[in-house]
Amino acid sequence: MVKEVGLTNLKNLYSDELEAFLANLGAERFRAAQLVEWLYGRGIQSFSEMTNLPVALRSRLAEVAFISRLKKLAEAKGEDGTIKYLFALEDGQAIETVRMKYRYGHAVCVSTQVGCRMACRFCASTIGGLIRNLEPAEMLDQVLAVNGELAPLGQRVGRVVLMGSGEPLDNYEAVLRFIRLLNLARGLNIGYRHITLSTSGVAPGIIRLAGEGLPITLAVSLHAPNNELRDYLMPINRRYPLEELLPACHDYADRTGRRVTFEYTLIRGVNDSPREARELVRLLSGHLAHVNLIPLNPVKEREFQPTSPEGVRRFARLLGEGGIPATIRRELGGDIDAACGQLRRKVLAEARLGDLKDATDAEPK
Ligand code: SF4
Repeated sequence: MVKEVGLTNLKNLYSDELEAFLANLGAERFRAAQLVEWLYGRGIQSFSEMTNLPVALRSRLAEVAFISRLKKLAEAKGEDGTIKYLFALEDGQAIETVRMKYRYGHAVCVSTQVGCRMACRFCASTIGGLIRNLEPAEMLDQVLAVNGELAPLGQRVGRVVLMGSGEPLDNYEAVLRFIRLLNLARGLNIGYRHITLSTSGVAPGIIRLAGEGLPITLAVSLHAPNNELRDYLMPINRRYPLEELLPACHDYADRTGRRVTFEYTLIRGVNDSPREARELVRLLSGHLAHVNLIPLNPVKEREFQPTSPEGVRRFARLLGEGGIPATIRRELGGDIDAACGQLRRKVLAEARLGDLKDATDAEPK
């Protein structure tokens, strides 16, 4: 994204591109490493703060480039330590980012698009459709913003999951660049094995991703063990049905040696019966797979309710008896509108109400 026409967002560039960019300005290539450290390590906001760069270079950079940043609009803290942030982008669009605390440290769930066009029936992010793709820098900025929040504690983000608003494989090029930039040694230096990409099931994207040679974890939102139910819950299934999606996932596991995680959100009376558990066992048997069972975070605008804790345990037991490894994901941030898209919708709705109030409070003409 450019803030103004012609200005380059430096956080979109790989190290060699940054070197070339600096060379074009007449600067030495080693300045790129210094820039990377300022941009990612110290999270500074302006070129004038880059005190080890010559003053002339700092002025030149300010003429041709800019450093993007997010503005925090709202945050909601859960009792379990999960924090959901609503950030404004440079163009005023709003995105959600979730910070989660685990035993091993902090993970960040990033958004990859503003809105989403996948129309999953249980999701709030898709209600207004896709507004626009995020740039790599805008995804990095979410991680950097959370690092900024953690800095006073002397901590930083150790894991990144691409599981927020948007379908990552619908924004393929930018997402791949983001993942590679996350791994930059002098930058955020997040190992590929600590990165998880979650997709609603864009089969050609999965096949393409398998060829990238990145040992990241692939998570596939399955949520149904047959086409009929999946067509209903996730319209993407009409485009890439299970006969196409599962071979793509198995191909990914074969080519990367990485076990694919299948996300299965349990929705009361919809996909949580013993029959569906057995169907899921038949579907995944014989493959390198793992099922992550997720109790539904209810969305105000949707009619679905979560399966009871006993129902979740029964479903997990049936999978285990069928030889499918399954874990029950602890429900993070259920008390803070943590399902993707919910905080954004709430804050935007309140802002609209505010506008309405301002309008109605105005003096009658
Ligand atoms: S669940 Fe993910 S892919 Fe589906 S509509 Fe929501 S953001 Fe998009």
